[in-house]
Amino acid sequence: MTFDFIRTDVEEQKTKFRYRQLVCNSMASQGNEIVIKGKSYLNFSSNDYLGLNGHAQINKALQEGVDKFGTCASSSSLVTGYHYAHQALEEDICQWLNKPKCLLFTSGFSANLALFHALGKNEHSHFYLDKLSHASMIDGAYQSKAKVKRFNHNDIDQLARLLTRTDHSALASSNKLIASEGVFSMDGCQAKVLQLAQLAKSHHAWLYLDDAHSIGVIGNKGQGSNSFANIDITMATFGKAVATSGAFLACDENLHEYLVNFSRHYIYSTAMSPAIAWATKKSIALIQAEHWRREKISELSALFGALLADNIELVTTQSSIHAIIIGDEKKALMVSEKLKSQGIWLTAIRPPTVAVNSSRLRVTICANHNTKDIKYLAECINKAIA
Ligand SMILES: *Cc1c(COP(=O)(O)O)cnc(C)c1O
Repeated sequence: MTFDFIRTDVEEQKTKFRYRQLVCNSMASQGNEIVIKGKSYLNFSSNDYLGLNGHAQINKALQEGVDKFGTCASSSSLVTGYHYAHQALEEDICQWLNKPKCLLFTSGFSANLALFHALGKNEHSHFYLDKLSHASMIDGAYQSKAKVKRFNHNDIDQLARLLTRTDHSALASSNKLIASEGVFSMDGCQAKVLQLAQLAKSHHAWLYLDDAHSIGVIGNKGQGSNSFANIDITMATFGKAVATSGAFLACDENLHEYLVNFSRHYIYSTAMSPAIAWATKKSIALIQAEHWRREKISELSALFGALLADNIELVTTQSSIHAIIIGDEKKALMVSEKLKSQGIWLTAIRPPTVAVNSSRLRVTICANHNTKDIKYLAECINKAIA
């Protein structure tokens, strides 16, 4: 039979408790409520960390953007798709992160592929990736021509040894890129940004951080990892705390120019909708000004940690993401189902997204949750796991 594996692979997912299905959320964004198959749930799976999705001023900016620029860029950036809205958004991001240049993409996934593809031009490039890096970084790195090494999660000593080995193997002139995530998507912990930046400098390497989960949340103005050190290249998506869609890469002039000339992902793709760029500009202005959103995440997260039973293993972090490690896939699913029956939507994250035996509940605490939500969540989790 043609493409037999399609059926057998899916059947295998089911026997391993790894089967995935789409669920349709049938209500327009209303704070933290989601409605699935007619039942309403409190959502603790959303990446709308700052609670900005549906914000009246962002909605208004989107409408204004549509009136000014239409709904579509109508071509790639290098043809006629690059609008004033894109340029203005790029300028705002450069100021916010204190970076010379910025380039927009339609998704974080494609921005990561673009960056690794561009820098992995040949085998003289060496990429060093944290083992917990996002799928799009791993795919980008391995699809490039670079030599790829992965270091254990946040293991600075091991990374230093790998870099030193490259330095000693007569490849001192090689091009080295250290890549990690500002805040890791599946457990919420942070990269050791300062140490990574120092290590990069001393080995003449560049540091690349994917700030998908840091942007908006980390830093006094939500500027992410660049609030700790000067990061050579930063990527962040607009689809999480920024509450629109698309992504950016912030870098120096030379890399910007190179990507505009050689990045296939940039050149051969329609520019993001200029109306979305206009709305994103508004969202970023709100993110910088409204400190209370970040403070709320910290307060509610502290409360959550304090209310959980002592026997529950919580990875404590400064981000919105809080992982409760369960271990076994089946048990993680069971706990998540129990919580669903109590009106709490919280996804069980299972392999291959996370390592075998580290299945977990990934709780996201957002600025639009309240104390009552958190108390109810902790109470239900305590019961479900006990
Ligand atoms: C979500 C995510 C991406 C992908 O961004 P999209 O804009 O959703 O394509 C990339 N990296 C990390 C770490 C992410 O969490």
